[in-house]
Amino acid sequence: MANEALPYNPISRFYRDTFNTKVYKISVSVAETCPNREGLKGMQTCNFCDQWGSAAYKQNLEKPLSQQIEEVREVLRRKRGADKFLVYFQAYTTTFARVSKLREQFELALSYPDVVGIVVGTRPDCISQSFIETCNEMAERGFMAVEFGVQSFDNDILKWMRRGHTAEQSLRAIQQISAKCPKVNLGIHLIFGCPGETDQMIIETALRINDLPLQNVKLHHMHVLKDTPLAEEYARGEFVPVEQEEYFRRCTLFLQHLREDIAVHRLSALSSRWDELVAPAWSTYKMETYQKQIEFMKTRGAFQGQLVGARA
Ligand code: SF4
Repeated sequence: MANEALPYNPISRFYRDTFNTKVYKISVSVAETCPNREGLKGMQTCNFCDQWGSAAYKQNLEKPLSQQIEEVREVLRRKRGADKFLVYFQAYTTTFARVSKLREQFELALSYPDVVGIVVGTRPDCISQSFIETCNEMAERGFMAVEFGVQSFDNDILKWMRRGHTAEQSLRAIQQISAKCPKVNLGIHLIFGCPGETDQMIIETALRINDLPLQNVKLHHMHVLKDTPLAEEYARGEFVPVEQEEYFRRCTLFLQHLREDIAVHRLSALSSRWDELVAPAWSTYKMETYQKQIEFMKTRGAFQGQLVGARA
């Protein structure tokens, strides 16, 4: 599977198999904040998070949901000929909003005949019973995906990131959603390139995922964005971003140990706004980075799932 045209299993393949066509994501922002930004229980803003909380466009936070959907849909139709969409509730922590409000927003998104499903990104410690019930109900009606910002399964790294949740909480959230919402398509986000990261940790992360009820992962390298706590650490020389070749190596190691049926959203981080990236400079151009990364794997004969079953 993974060693055909591409050395990994891209999520686009899963979407095409599921919907019989290419689908496009419409990223929307409905949550205005998150527990970290609110300083709940002594939490702090995650060290890598910019002031927009991962929103694709800051102005989206001020627009009604219908306008956000219609505007992006129009652009995708015009520029890419798109005719099927997933609405991606992305910025801040979507499930920090009241679930009754969230349910209304899901209903609104699904009221567009060409919206074929919903994707919700959230923190693993931010799911309530009513959120689980809503997910389950939506998944019974159509395609519903949940993506947890797990970021790492190492508690020291999570502490350094100031995430305010533990690896154990991530595992619990994954098991909970999987057990109570069996039809939900479940994925996690991971960040590589943090201080103290070792090859063994990367391999163990892949092996752990192989044993979990997960269908997809999204990979990022730790990049430095303007106006973040990490930008201050970087300026003081306390954080050195991972070099391109080293990141490709770690990512390849991860993919080689990852089950080949697990779909992969993206292979590296991308700053939403072109002027926001501080470092590393190598990730400025999305397509160029992507092509180099694919080339890195191909020239080494590496592919996803290659070393599954071969413990390091
Ligand atoms: S990364 Fe998410 S949880 Fe962390 S501060 Fe930003 S919006 Fe909040």
